[in-house]
Amino acid sequence: MAEGPTVIVSRQRGAEPQRRAIEDTLLSRCTSAGYHAVTVPHLYHIAHRSPMWDEIAAIRGPVALVTWMHPRPAEWTLRSHAPGLAIVAAVDLARCEDAEAAFEAIRDAVAPSDHPGSLRELSADVTARWYPVIDRERCTSCGHCLQFCLFGVYERADGEVVVARPDLCKDGCPACSRICPQGAIIFPLSDDPQIAGAPGTLMQPDAAARRMYYVRTGRQCPKCGRRPEAGELTGLPANALVCEACGSPLAEGEASAKASPVHDEIDDLIDALDRLAAGPGSDGS
Ligand code: SF4
Ligand code: SF4
Repeated sequence: MAEGPTVIVSRQRGAEPQRRAIEDTLLSRCTSAGYHAVTVPHLYHIAHRSPMWDEIAAIRGPVALVTWMHPRPAEWTLRSHAPGLAIVAAVDLARCEDAEAAFEAIRDAVAPSDHPGSLRELSADVTARWYPVIDRERCTSCGHCLQFCLFGVYERADGEVVVARPDLCKDGCPACSRICPQGAIIFPLSDDPQIAGAPGTLMQPDAAARRMYYVRTGRQCPKCGRRPEAGELTGLPANALVCEACGSPLAEGEASAKASPVHDEIDDLIDALDRLAAGPGSDGS
């Protein structure tokens, strides 16, 4: 693999001609300016164990990543497979006015070399996928997602929590992104900008989902010291005094208490995930 500034272009998934034309114009602009250009299928959909990841990981020198995704999830999707890459820019084509604007964003981040550019097209199997991407700059490896997920998507490796079995994740389920205390879990294809890791947004832990975490894992809430159970978190009056972290009912004047409505959605969330865990037909349908 050639050294020097490389532009990796992650192709759109599907065959929208306008987007394809933008990609091709950008590739031509980059190669004639002296960049090494590499095209890959849509990064997020490439198989977890694809040999193509090794080819990408072998790229040396600064890398500008161009995708149709928000920059943060795009970068962490790539880093999860090729942690040693020197990614200096992540450009979201959807936010560029045209190919020239994308080219300028690349050139602002890394100058082309004096040598002739090149184009290499890498291919790999892709299927529609849905799984979490971890922002390692935010993740503290606390393990909450690992304890919470019923499907074995996460595991701990060398002390770090990693997405080990992404294809066990349930389509459309973003539940663990709602309980991560660091806002580190991203689902790049979510319609919700926070969950999808849109620029300027950060997923805030969702109070109801955090309560579900304590109920499910039986862990002690570090804020109030209780181990809440599902039954005691529902049916409380809207102005009940509850722990803001786990939703346990608190006595008047207890430390770390905050008046907050407790939602029946805790039970709904637990039921929904239990049904998913039990498999098709478990809802009686
Ligand atoms: S819950 Fe968030 S911070 Fe904790 S291990 Fe999972 S991703 Fe990392
Ligand atoms: S979204 Fe649901 S199934 Fe997927 S990793 Fe998170 S908790 Fe597990």
